[in-house]
Amino acid sequence: MSATLDCISQIYYQPLPDLLFNAQQTHRKHHDPRAVQLCTLSNIKTGLCPEDCAYCSQSVHNKTGVVPQKLMSVEAVVAEAQTAKANGSTRFCMGAAWREVKDDPQFERVLEMVRQSSCSGDGSVLYSRYVTAASSFTPQSSLG
Ligand code: SF4
Repeated sequence: MSATLDCISQIYYQPLPDLLFNAQQTHRKHHDPRAVQLCTLSNIKTGLCPEDCAYCSQSVHNKTGVVPQKLMSVEAVVAEAQTAKANGSTRFCMGAAWREVKDDPQFERVLEMVRQSSCSGDGSVLYSRYVTAASSFTPQSSLG
């Protein structure tokens, strides 16, 4: 079924309560409304970020209670992904405190984590770094 501009416009301009009601009806037509996807988030690198985002507990410039943890080994992360799967997770997510992706051995290690976690059938794998606010909240630096 292709959507016409008219059809999209009707959806877009309807009042919010109607949109929510219609979205729920459509969702229930195609999915179990009580189903919840279990996901596991693993901190594969905590703290020690060289960036100076004022709000962030992961920044090396801010004094917080965060205990820094270097980038985990591939084996440790794959073991966590397998445990997550055994516990019912269908998605395994990894978060790392970095400003940007660099083409270096650490990032190669992250790629290997993704490869091995994916190949062992652990559902979908998602890698992200900590980006939590718009640039308006980071007056002293830019988001990478
Ligand atoms: S927001 Fe991201 S880039 Fe900024 S300090 Fe935290 S982890 Fe680093």
